Amino acid sequence: MEFPKFNLHPQVAAGVKAAGYTSPTPIQQQAIPSVMAGCDVMGLAQTGTGKTAAFVLPILHRLMQGERGRVRALIVAPTRELAEQINESINQLGRQTRLRSITVYGGVGVNPQIEKLKQGVEIVVACPGRLLDHINQGTINLSKLEVLVLDEADQMFDMGFLPDIRRILKHIPQERQTLLFSATMPDDIRRLAHDILTEPVTVQVGNTAPPVTVTHALYPVSQHLKTPLLLELLRHTDTESVLVFTRTKHRAKRLGEQLEKAGYKAASLQGNLSQNRRQAALDGFRDGTYQILVATDIAARGIDVSQISHVVNYDIPDTAEAYVHRIGRTGRAAKSGDAFTLVTSEDTVMVRTIEKKLGAQLERRTVEGFDYSVPAPHKDSEFARPPREPQRRKPQAAGQGAGGGPATPAKSGAAGRPQPHAVKPAHPGAAPTARHPQRSTRAR
Ligand code: AMP
Repeated sequence: MEFPKFNLHPQVAAGVKAAGYTSPTPIQQQAIPSVMAGCDVMGLAQTGTGKTAAFVLPILHRLMQGERGRVRALIVAPTRELAEQINESINQLGRQTRLRSITVYGGVGVNPQIEKLKQGVEIVVACPGRLLDHINQGTINLSKLEVLVLDEADQMFDMGFLPDIRRILKHIPQERQTLLFSATMPDDIRRLAHDILTEPVTVQVGNTAPPVTVTHALYPVSQHLKTPLLLELLRHTDTESVLVFTRTKHRAKRLGEQLEKAGYKAASLQGNLSQNRRQAALDGFRDGTYQILVATDIAARGIDVSQISHVVNYDIPDTAEAYVHRIGRTGRAAKSGDAFTLVTSEDTVMVRTIEKKLGAQLERRTVEGFDYSVPAPHKDSEFARPPREPQRRKPQAAGQGAGGGPATPAKSGAAGRPQPHAVKPAHPGAAPTARHPQRSTRAR
């Protein structure tokens, strides 16, 4: 099926053409006709599948008819970054429609939002907290709402937004079309879907399976050698743009600094940054100012940087779902990508759980020439296992899928071979290697 088959309004179809989309992705093929028919839809799809356009296009089509200057579509998203991305898609795909869309989220001034709402908009993309503020202060009028979208519902649940969502639902018309998108379907989301969707059409693509375009590999290593191994991997791999995940904000900040010190154009994205600095890090990553972005799961949620060539799990995630979410950032919309995960012997259970979820064994690789035998420099060094930050999502049951001993490195030389176009640090020479580990530097 091709886009013309949808019979989108010509001004919306022009946006599709301008965006360079030639054929719809599977989620778009499944969802667009049902949404255009006015049905409630439950979409099981992760980031990277083209799910945003799957709801944005039918919404733009619908809003081409009817009143302007009223909020007629509301999209609720868990993070500011995701809200911005959705708004960008709306602006890109709706550039010919003269429909107006704004973002509404906290951490930035409320007055510009109030001003834009007064001027009149048809689409609002909002995070739950600030949206409720506007509702409570009477600065948003949702009485004409026709379509509600809850995007990344499972993430909203993870972040504790479900009570806010239920409050928002009390302030919008009962008579409406509701679309719910989620990468996973935990019980609470299933219940929410049951409560708010009427005879929904379920569309599903690659449920919790990462994009097929991604090549996965595990790099077994000791905790204290993770940074030197990452530097070695970066040196020997042809990377365009790398998203690195750490378990904690503190580790994200510190690893970002270490990579910068090693000469890479790197930035870190973590919850402690002001909105301006988060945006600067994201914009810099998107426009290539930064080649490497180090982030925690929450900070990186929804990041859409189409050209991400590599995702590196510096720390393995706590759940198989989180692994799929992280990996969804590369190999987006049919681009290929690589996903490297640094694993220690403590990660064996989670590795088995992830492999079970993926239905395949992940390849173990070693980097040729890297000295894996360098001892830890200090017992309480900075490379010691990180303390876990409080997790909102329950980790998967220990022991699930476990079956073997610690992950053992495969014979060296199978992969991780120096590649012809390895990216060099901006000012080479500063990178520590396993052979010359740098002394620990305390994080500032
Ligand atoms: P999403 O899953 O909505 O975050 O989309 C992932 C990426 O795929 C975004 O960069 C979109 O611009 C891109 N995309 C969405 N639909 C298509 C399509 N039909 N053809 C090519 N790229 C697309």
